[in-house]
Amino acid sequence: MTTLAPTPDLDAATVVDRLRTTFATRRTAATDWRRGQLTALRTLLTDHRDELLAALAADLGKGPEEGYRTEIGFTLNEIDHTLDHLDAWLAPRPAELPERLLPATAHTVREPLGVVLVIAPWNYPLQLALSPLVGALAAGNCAVVKPSELAPATSAALARLLPRYLDAEAVAVVEGAVPETTALLAQRFDHIFYTGNGAVGRIVMAAAARHLTPVTLELGGKSPAVLDPGVDLATTARRLVAGKFLNAGQTCVAPDYVLAVGDTAKDLERHLAEAVHEVYGADPATAPEYGRIVNERHFDRLTALLDGGRTVIGGTHHRADRYLAPTVLADISPDAPVMQEEIFGPILPIVAVPDLDAAIAFINERDKPLALYAFTDSEETKHRLLTETSSGGLAFGLPVAHLTAPGLPFGGVGESGMGRYHGEYSMETFSHTKAVLDKPLG
Ligand code: NAD
Repeated sequence: MTTLAPTPDLDAATVVDRLRTTFATRRTAATDWRRGQLTALRTLLTDHRDELLAALAADLGKGPEEGYRTEIGFTLNEIDHTLDHLDAWLAPRPAELPERLLPATAHTVREPLGVVLVIAPWNYPLQLALSPLVGALAAGNCAVVKPSELAPATSAALARLLPRYLDAEAVAVVEGAVPETTALLAQRFDHIFYTGNGAVGRIVMAAAARHLTPVTLELGGKSPAVLDPGVDLATTARRLVAGKFLNAGQTCVAPDYVLAVGDTAKDLERHLAEAVHEVYGADPATAPEYGRIVNERHFDRLTALLDGGRTVIGGTHHRADRYLAPTVLADISPDAPVMQEEIFGPILPIVAVPDLDAAIAFINERDKPLALYAFTDSEETKHRLLTETSSGGLAFGLPVAHLTAPGLPFGGVGESGMGRYHGEYSMETFSHTKAVLDKPLG
């Protein structure tokens, strides 16, 4: 796989100036313009579905069903939800006033911010570029989209198609790698929305500070899945496999590791093996819906983690096509390399802990995760995890799917990020909520 050539002679200042000129015309603030852009984005995704699926397959070996569901279909849902609620989200909201200010009225309005920058990662290269863009356009902004250079086919498709369907004076795509992103970050934006790792997140935030630009940082980390004794292990294993091995484990909210309470670890192993066989067959290398590792660097990083424990299933790998089998490791010590950083690949370690207290302590001794999952039948366990731990999201019984509910905010806390989006939360992120007071002079 090759990475992209830099954008020749990128003049980031000119790109941003052009969008700023468009924003100054106020045309992007009109509700009709916003609806028009969202509808055009919808048309792009349906007109070019096959081409986009081919790009996702080229970049990540994504199968067509998974590619459609997690990237194109996901974004279409986000667009439809936004179109359905746009008028309500833009309606002025009356505010209560204290008696001493009466007679007067007060309300809030959401106004566009201006020119925003969306920096996307490679793992869901379409969804994570376009779903923030949906929010940016719905809120009436101009936007620069910077796709990931590590997903070059999708990046090229976005650069080719977005200007054809959207208002090209209001939306720009800048392809490229670190030099191009650095050039963009030197410009003044009204919001920067970054999805990726925490190291670059810090670079983005430092650059934004120079212009006092607000940021949303959608980062990652190790998302644990707590397993209580006595739960239905067949169902649990099927759902863990579906969430973990989606996109070959390269999902920011994938369950990173299992924290098996009591003596559940041993029984879970057998059920996980059965579930992997059920979903991917005897040889996952030939399963059409099983993806590949994005590049050799990540492949080498992941295969170096395989020695951390006893291999329950998987472990097989082929560097030539960057295949790493769905792998489960057991008897894992907390000091094992696989437990030090976000895995971001198809390796599921099982860590045994004696009781729920130990599981909660284990979670709280580490960075706040983007997601916390638990498989339990106990309301008390749910309550304790809800009130005694902190994470971007918390889901019982089903990993990953919470981010597909547009009514729920999606974002991290602490090391897993700041800010949130999806649905109305995107509108909030990409708007300024202005306070308006109106007191008669008479
Ligand atoms: P990546 O390498 O594609 O980087 C993301 C973006 O940052 C790219 O557009 C890239 O050009 C830019 N970039 C890279 N280095 C830079 C630098 N030095 N200066 C300026 N810009 C730079 O993606 P990644 O970081 O490998 O993505 C994986 C990480 O993202 C994981 O930690 C994952 O958990 C996280 N992630 C989070 C979410 C979320 O929604 N919270 C979603 C997906 C991925």
